[in-house]
Amino acid sequence: MSRSAHPAGPRHADVLPEGHYSGPAADLNALDPKVWAQTVTRDADANGVVTVGGIDVKTLAERHGTPAYVLDEADFRERARAWRTAFGPDADVFYAGKAFLSRAVVRWLHEEGLNLDVCSGGELATALSAGMPADRIAFHGNNKSVSEITRAIEAGVGRIVLDSFQEIVRVAHVAQSLGKRQPVQIRITVGVEAHTHEFIATAHEDQKFGIPLAGGQAAEAVRRALQLDGLELIGIHSHIGSQIFDMSGFEVAAHRVVGLLKDIRDEHGVELPEIDLGGGLGIAYTSDDDPREPHDIAKALTEIVTRECDSARLRTPRISVEPGRAIVGPTAFTLYEVGTIKPLDGLRTYVSVDGGMSDNIRTALYDAEYSVALVSRRSDAEPMLARVVGKHCESGDIVVKDAFLPGDLAPGDLIAVPATGAYCRSMASNYNHVLRPPVVAVKDGESRVIVRRETEEDLLRLDVG
Ligand SMILES: *Cc1c(COP(=O)(O)O)cnc(C)c1O
Repeated sequence: MSRSAHPAGPRHADVLPEGHYSGPAADLNALDPKVWAQTVTRDADANGVVTVGGIDVKTLAERHGTPAYVLDEADFRERARAWRTAFGPDADVFYAGKAFLSRAVVRWLHEEGLNLDVCSGGELATALSAGMPADRIAFHGNNKSVSEITRAIEAGVGRIVLDSFQEIVRVAHVAQSLGKRQPVQIRITVGVEAHTHEFIATAHEDQKFGIPLAGGQAAEAVRRALQLDGLELIGIHSHIGSQIFDMSGFEVAAHRVVGLLKDIRDEHGVELPEIDLGGGLGIAYTSDDDPREPHDIAKALTEIVTRECDSARLRTPRISVEPGRAIVGPTAFTLYEVGTIKPLDGLRTYVSVDGGMSDNIRTALYDAEYSVALVSRRSDAEPMLARVVGKHCESGDIVVKDAFLPGDLAPGDLIAVPATGAYCRSMASNYNHVLRPPVVAVKDGESRVIVRRETEEDLLRLDVG
């Protein structure tokens, strides 16, 4: 990560964590289009309020309260369509529902021609209730219950991704008892673990997901699946990591998956028709991140698989991918109201917001980096080094670890953290009995609540003691 010189003026620059922050942007009012949803702009007038989907954030805060996740529907649809178009008719794009799932999102995906990954009964129920055709749903998970498997097969899901030897038998048994033959893929671990700019090709398979390629276990799983009447084995699945920018991990993974396809052909005389390379494609959380375009990714993955198959003299299987973060991540920001501001001399200024680790656990959980901006007005005050923290009883309750905000920031100002569309609402909790924020979709000058704010009534409804 680069670290540029600091423009004159930032306070507390001496305590900047080495290699972690590249200094304040020349203009704190600027909104980097890499990290903000597509329709986000700052009004050119003196007040400089930020608008999204044609609505300014002060109006959004008045209408819907804070904190709130604000989701740019046009941006979501465009990103979904870009993935769909990039991969074309001979491949499938499965949106990973765990990144963020709601009925509105399911309908958008359906309309834009994407398929959907779910990994629990709850996600399956959401998808089906919003009208996603079951044959466009893939069911994942390392510990699907028999009742979840039964519901998935009864509904007619397009594929179940088998994750263990026990599950091979379990799914076959349920399918057979329902008089069905269920299309399945087998998820394997290829010994590649990728994250951002690096991958480890010799990672040992010490994880809960998948069946290791090593030691012939994946080949044995294939042998068993092919023998069971309840199963129609359609392909092999591999998912290597998250927030990946560098395609070389996929290259090694594809090489190993195709190697298995070749072994299957040699042993059983079958060429499996599908290969799924999983998700994990990275987005820009800060200006330091440079994600690749879907078109670029599609071209690279297709080339890799085609080349590997040509050299193994296999027909190129139908490719599928499972982006979650890369579609929804950049389309939303979290809108907070500033509360207490606590300057710590010689250190930094702690800026408390009305949410925190309950609406964004990623900073505490993964040491994730985010950026932040004052959005209710423009300011030309001197930058101050800030840490944006939540309202929870926990010192690790940090939303943005290191950020510059205008030195005249005051309680009541609205600030927003961009790129919170993925793994924020979906991982939100009720810690401290803080109510989970709504998701507000904006488009063409209109705002619509697609997931409403939790109420104290909601909390108390569950508490039946
Ligand atoms: C988490 C996950 C994804 C999506 O990951 P992103 O980083 O959101 O793209 C896709 N496939 C599988 C199997 C996953 O576990």
